[in-house]
Formats: sequence, C-alpha cells, structure tokens
Amino acid sequence: MSLKFYNTLTKDKEDFIPINKDEVRMYSCGPTVYNYPHIGNYRAYIFADVLKRVLSYGGYNVKHIMNITDIDDKTIRDSQKEGKSLKEFTEFYSEEFFKDLKSLNILNPTKFTKATDYINEMVGIIKILLKKEIAYKSKDGSIYFDIKKFKNYGKLSNLVLEEQKENAGNRIKTDEYDKENAQDFALWKAWDPSDGNTYWDANFGKGLPRESEAIIRGRPGWHIECSAMSMANLGERIDIHTGGVDNIFPHHENEIAQSEGATGKQFVNYWMHNEWVLVDQKKMAKSFNNFYTLRDLLEKGIDPIAYRFWLLMANYRTRVNFVWEALEGAETALKRLYRLYIELGNDVGSINEEYKKRFKEFVEDDLDTPRALSLLWDLMKDGGVSSADKKATILDFDKVLGLNFENIKEDIIPEEVEKIVEEREEARKNKDFKKSDELRDKIISLGYEIKDTTDGVKIFKV
Ligand SMILES: [Zn+2]
Repeated sequence: MSLKFYNTLTKDKEDFIPINKDEVRMYSCGPTVYNYPHIGNYRAYIFADVLKRVLSYGGYNVKHIMNITDIDDKTIRDSQKEGKSLKEFTEFYSEEFFKDLKSLNILNPTKFTKATDYINEMVGIIKILLKKEIAYKSKDGSIYFDIKKFKNYGKLSNLVLEEQKENAGNRIKTDEYDKENAQDFALWKAWDPSDGNTYWDANFGKGLPRESEAIIRGRPGWHIECSAMSMANLGERIDIHTGGVDNIFPHHENEIAQSEGATGKQFVNYWMHNEWVLVDQKKMAKSFNNFYTLRDLLEKGIDPIAYRFWLLMANYRTRVNFVWEALEGAETALKRLYRLYIELGNDVGSINEEYKKRFKEFVEDDLDTPRALSLLWDLMKDGGVSSADKKATILDFDKVLGLNFENIKEDIIPEEVEKIVEEREEARKNKDFKKSDELRDKIISLGYEIKDTTDGVKIFKV
C-alpha cells in the first residue's frame, strides 16, 4: 500500500507522490516565541513529528524546516513590557520551546529558521509582488497584498470573498483607505512609534510609485515570513506544509497568495492540518485562559510523553477534549506498556515482518496512530512471538511512535514485584513478620531490593 494523506487543498485523501523521487521537502509553521506554548499548541508539533517519522520509515529522505517567529506584534509588545531587547526576549522563549520539544521526544527539523534572519528574502518577494502590481504601497507607507489580483485567493479555505462577488472589477479608491480592500493583508508594516527600535530600513527599489520613497523603515508582516523561509530553504515548490487548522485562514491562504503570486508556480502540493485540543468543548487558547503548559504537567508529576501517547490515541484530524483524568489514564497505560517491555528481557531478536507490514499499513493510511497503538498492544500479548522478537519489533514501531521505549529506565518495577511488596506491607501491618521476611526473600530472588524509608517502602533493582 502506498502512503495516503488527507490534503486540505483538495479536501480528499490522496496518494502521496513527492516532487523529487525519494525526497520530501516539508515545512511546518513554528511558534511565535513570546510565551510558553500551551499543550494545545504542541499537538501541531507532535503531528508534524509523527508525519516526518512516517515518511522516514517509508524510506524517504525528509528535509524539514520549522520557523521561529521572533518578530511580530506580540514579541515587540511583550519584550518592551519586560524591558528586554527583542533578541534577548525571544531567545529565552526559543530555548524553552526547544526543551519542550525534547521532552515530548519530537525530533528536531533539519533546520530551525528565525524570521529575523530572512528579512532580505522577504523584501525580495515583496519587490517581485510590487513589480507585478499584486502588491501596493498605502498612504501610511505599509505595503499590502492586493487579494483581488490573485485569482485563486480562497482556494485552500474555500473562502468566497464578499468583496469579490459584490465589487468584481470595481476598485475601491485608494485615497479613501489605507488598504484598498479590508481583506488585503500587510506584507511590510511601516514603522510606528510603538515599534520602538525594532525596524529595518528595507529598500524596495523601483517597484514603488516614487523612487525617492524606495526605502521604507518598518518590519515584515507575519505571513510573508513563512513564504520567505520556505522558499529560501526548500525552493519555490514543496511537497508538504503543516500547521494547525486555525492556520488555514488567513495564514496559509496568504502564504499561497504571496508565494504563488511571486513565482507563478504551485507553492505546496499537500497541505496538512491537525485539529484542536479542546477544554470543556472549547478550543484551548491563550485568549480563553483555559490552557495548560508542559510545566503544569510536570508539576503534577506527569511524564510529557504521556501527553504524546494520549494524542496518538486519536487521529490528528479529530478534535480531542482534554481532561486530567484522561491524561492520567493514558500515563497508566503507557507505564503498563513500559513495564511489559522491560519484562521482555534484554535480548533483541529480529523484527516480526507480519506485524511490521500491518503497522506500516496503518501509519501510512493518513497516520492512523490509534490502530497502530492497538496493534502494539496485540503484539505485546501475542504468545506466538518470542520476547526477543517482540522487543525488536516494538523498537522498530517506536521509530514512528516516538514513545521512547529505547530509553526506558530499568527502575520500572514489574507489576508482580509491586504486588509482593504490597502483600509484605500488609503482613507487616498484621505483625506477621515470618511472612513479611519470606516475601522479602521472594522480592530479592526476583532481582529487587526494598528499603523501608520515612517516605514508605522504596523498591530498587539490584
Ligand atoms: Zn507559517
């Protein structure tokens, strides 16, 4: 079976065919580094990670770019609030983001790209758009994209522009508005005092009405950042672009308009989007103040991998409702898997090809991780596969799942041992010391040692 993905552009599940044989060029919209992302945000990065792992598992060489938005309204506003330079402020949150990715076992992209490193490339695209008269300079000096000049505007989000319908052919007079159309979006925002010392003096050359005004002090709009970083690192056409569904409009629609407006070529072949994480049936969002960060999980003693595991129990295109009980349930299940894995012993045999074939079929069917996980449970329980072969097969599955089986600490205590420890506690409570000593010997014979501490009984592997 071949790889199949749901493509937001065609609204259909399609066979995946890359532009270049054996190579996949993929771009993921990354974070705006002005705060700690919440766990809802991380669904997008876990999804992109699984997608990339599935592609690598299928033999593709994946070139993956993820941007870091270190210049926009929010980074400027909040760095000023904290009295920090934009660089110092955004670098702090970038580092925190990288740490979070690591704790979720998300593999780094081929390259992280910082928006402020690509100002020249952004200006380059804007110059082309000005030259083609798809972009225009407004009275306040900002440069806008003229969506009426791009006939495919709305093709990703299926947007029917009211303006397009009503005013087909009629241009609103420029001198009455900064923007000619309310839906036009900024490519370059002219400096205003609230930007402080965050600006670039960009030269837009001959594209502007008067050459004397070619230099515009300002900063890029958010959308142009991704077009520029994608094109600079992956070329004018790429295979896959990922993001959350809330990026479809306007962000990705605008990326298409800018990129295709400039190059005249199809920008992205497969647009892939993950659904929301809800809290009480409402989207988890900073603006609703109903969000949790990975720090909240850690404070509750929950391994971030349990969150990854919980998300993989659902397809990336379905909405999930976050409740702590569900996450705790996922952690219990994951620990059980870890324990079963440890109990398989130290020998690593060979991959069971029958299981691998089925696993590959599932994950290559638009990343069907729920079925892949249930297959993992089936394999664990299958008496017909040797422990060593199970171990090899699980490690192979984990190249895609990323549940970190490889690095499980040996101090995960088998269920059997925990049960005996509980029995021993009971015996001690009943002052049955003979039984308690016998049970202690049994624990030692299984390779564990127990110590009675002020915090209760501790179990160690010998
Ligand atoms: Zn983006």
